[in-house]
Amino acid sequence: MAADPTTIFALASAPGRAGIAVVRVSGPGAGAALLALAPKMTALPAPRLATRAVLYASESNMNDGCEKIDDALVLWFPGPASFTGEDVVEFHIHGGHAVLDSLITSLSALDGLSPAGPGDFSRRAFEHGKMDLTAVEAIADLVDAETAAQRRQALAQMGGALAKQYDGWRERLVKSMAFAEASIDFAEEDIPDDLARQSIAALRTLADEIDAHLADDGIGERIRDGFRIALTGAPNVGKSSLLNALAKRDVAIVSDIAGTTRDVIEVPLDLGGYAAVLIDTAGLRDSDDAIEREGVRRARDQAAQADLRLHLVDATAPAITPLADTRTILVANKADLLDRAPAPTDGTVTISVKTGAGIADLIAEMSRRIKAQAETRAGASAPLTRARHRTALEDCRDALRRAIAAAEAGAAEEMMAEDMRIAAGALGRITGRVDVEELLDRIFRDFCIGK
Ligand code: GDP
Repeated sequence: MAADPTTIFALASAPGRAGIAVVRVSGPGAGAALLALAPKMTALPAPRLATRAVLYASESNMNDGCEKIDDALVLWFPGPASFTGEDVVEFHIHGGHAVLDSLITSLSALDGLSPAGPGDFSRRAFEHGKMDLTAVEAIADLVDAETAAQRRQALAQMGGALAKQYDGWRERLVKSMAFAEASIDFAEEDIPDDLARQSIAALRTLADEIDAHLADDGIGERIRDGFRIALTGAPNVGKSSLLNALAKRDVAIVSDIAGTTRDVIEVPLDLGGYAAVLIDTAGLRDSDDAIEREGVRRARDQAAQADLRLHLVDATAPAITPLADTRTILVANKADLLDRAPAPTDGTVTISVKTGAGIADLIAEMSRRIKAQAETRAGASAPLTRARHRTALEDCRDALRRAIAAAEAGAAEEMMAEDMRIAAGALGRITGRVDVEELLDRIFRDFCIGK
């Protein structure tokens, strides 16, 4: 026998002292929990309307002690029209530790209620079909969003931008499968060649569209996780000093500097609304020391993979060779040591970390380059935002290409069918809509009989 679903509760707002705290309860016991803690309420309040309620501690209720918890606002969301699809109650209480502790203790004392684990509310929303997996991920991204671009991307994904794209592809794939099935049913007649050709063409179009979507150069992942900017240059040109200077500016989201390895330090920045991560690599010089050599190797790797490089040189060096690379900004530091202002050089930003001269220009140039990349790398469709999406789409595309090759080589239909099933399953995996697989199973159960 299946156990009754539990009713879960948790603080939905940030922990700590605050004006208001929100505690959410979800499950079949949510309504009863509200009535138990608000004994003066004779019936559940009107759905989705903020209602004032005096809350009393549940233990003392039983003893007629009537220990008041708070004068609160409550919201009643009867399922399925709620975030989780279950009955939900929200308690909007005053956000002090004692108030919150008392409410949590009272909820824990009620029969059938237990504290929610991380992600439990979203999991229930997904299980009740309120959200697909990309929307669940988007909510997490929205909560973590630090920059305007991250917020915009998360909102679009939460609104179904990715789910719509992947569901659309899945529907077209299912249609092609129906075509393929028909071409086999009519194997003795003239129609099949035509149908087979059409369905192969449809699969090829689909595979091409997925390829184009995958060829977005990781733009969605970059917007989500930050564009990588590497600081390069010989030892002592002022890389660490520049990193510290940038970290102290308004552009820094977080001021603490985390050393991820002995040699690489990362600082998150907000560059004109785009998240970026500035990476200071160990001075690029060859060494006999094995550990230092490893540091240099890592530094070179980081610099090579970066979206943008700030290559620092000494402004007093006799000759500065301009760089042709569009992903590198040549930065001439220590301008304060020059006898006179340097002649403007194309593509070179002259700064002095010591006096602060030119730093604002450098930040503007970095922002301009990142914005340009974000705009040119973005395709027409919403970008995928996680490696999980990329892997599933690659699996889908590979399976489609195998199905096309099998069809063209005149291989057995079962082989093509299996690959199409894998392709549809991979798309279903991204959104978590497993029902598609069942649909395909049904199509192919008939399809394979008697072969
Ligand atoms: P890194 O090895 O490239 O990380 O260089 P550092 O940031 O450690 O700097 C090397 C030396 O150059 C330090 O003594 C800094 O104080 C100095 N330095 C950095 N920037 C400037 C600058 O703009 N002007 C002057 N005069 N000295 C600087």
